[in-house]
Amino acid sequence: MKTYIGLGSNLGDRHANIEQASSELNSCDAITVEKLSDFLETPPLAAMDQPAYINAVAEISTTLQPVAFLKKLQTIEQKLGRTRDGKWQPRTIDLDILMYGDLVLETCDLTIPHRQMHLRSFVLIGMSQLAGDLIHPVLKRSMNELAQRLNSNSFALNPEIPQLICIAGIIGVGKTTLAQNLAQKLNCPILREAYDTNPYLPQVYAGKTELALKSQLYFLETRRNQLARENLSSQNIYLTDYIFDKDRIFAQRTINADQFGEYAMQYDKVSSQIASPILVIYLTDTPNAAMDRIHNRNRPYEQQMKLKTLQELKSAYDRLFAEWDKSPVITLHAGKFNCLDPANIDILAVEIERYICRQ
Ligand code: ATP
Ligand code: CA
Ligand code: CA
Repeated sequence: MKTYIGLGSNLGDRHANIEQASSELNSCDAITVEKLSDFLETPPLAAMDQPAYINAVAEISTTLQPVAFLKKLQTIEQKLGRTRDGKWQPRTIDLDILMYGDLVLETCDLTIPHRQMHLRSFVLIGMSQLAGDLIHPVLKRSMNELAQRLNSNSFALNPEIPQLICIAGIIGVGKTTLAQNLAQKLNCPILREAYDTNPYLPQVYAGKTELALKSQLYFLETRRNQLARENLSSQNIYLTDYIFDKDRIFAQRTINADQFGEYAMQYDKVSSQIASPILVIYLTDTPNAAMDRIHNRNRPYEQQMKLKTLQELKSAYDRLFAEWDKSPVITLHAGKFNCLDPANIDILAVEIERYICRQ
């Protein structure tokens, strides 16, 4: 059987520990180490005062069954001086089974694929190097695609924060429809963007830029009410049909330069109070296709929207997510992903469950 393991060390001679674990594995009759990825240095995930890790991924052939294979890994951990004093302590060596063929297994002692591998760039970068096209048997996505979602960052599932999932994308891309279908499937509330209660918005759209500051401050206040950490429960899953960070993009386009400082101050204040998304779903499409939807849904004040505006917004969103480091980002192309098809929603929901904690 072909399997992949993650190797990590943050105590002693970290490189040597990984090399030694690899040769210990290889010296076992039932195990051949086929390939070893490059070594990657990564800060510890649980940001405690811990030394940085060296991580690598190995491709292995083995005749051992999963449980016996795990036992073997644990024996090698012990031989290399690993002490087990609690989770996420510094360790000379940590050996995790990432994948075992395309086996899906969930028992108390062993979960395959590794429960958090898709949240860890220090795993996925190595996996991409060794087997970029390999498909994760639960997520049904390639290692390359899973790695892209993380933008070189690593995350940990955390039940102690609100499980906030944000759908983002330009006007007319279908965020609200996706949110409605998804919320039903995930059985969670939607926090809907309150664009229709904003009394200034139609006038700003109509060209009254002197109201832009008021309009954007109004939005900030509604966002704060919806997303403040103190208003959300860590036990719950929430879905939004917008992303908070877009407010700044819109504000920059509409508020006069001399008023922007005041806005930026309020933005930073609200930004520090709200829950951070644990997952973003970035719904993209061509500006032309978004324009068609805007015409079809026929909200009066949107009808003057220019194609150029949508193009600029798309660039701004693309830039936002090119630098995004707050959460994984699942990018969906609205043209290829029909969110009215329940089968698509089912697949997406299965994926989402792996990026969140459900109590
Ligand atoms: P993480 O699993 O988040 O990487 P860790 O590696 O620090 O955490 P350990 O203390 O090394 O956690 O392992 C805790 C237990 O995880 C092990 O005793 C083992 O039974 C269990 N486990 C479940 N799935 C796996 C897996 N795929 N590979 C290795 N251990 C696993
Ligand atoms: Ca581990
Ligand atoms: Ca481990």
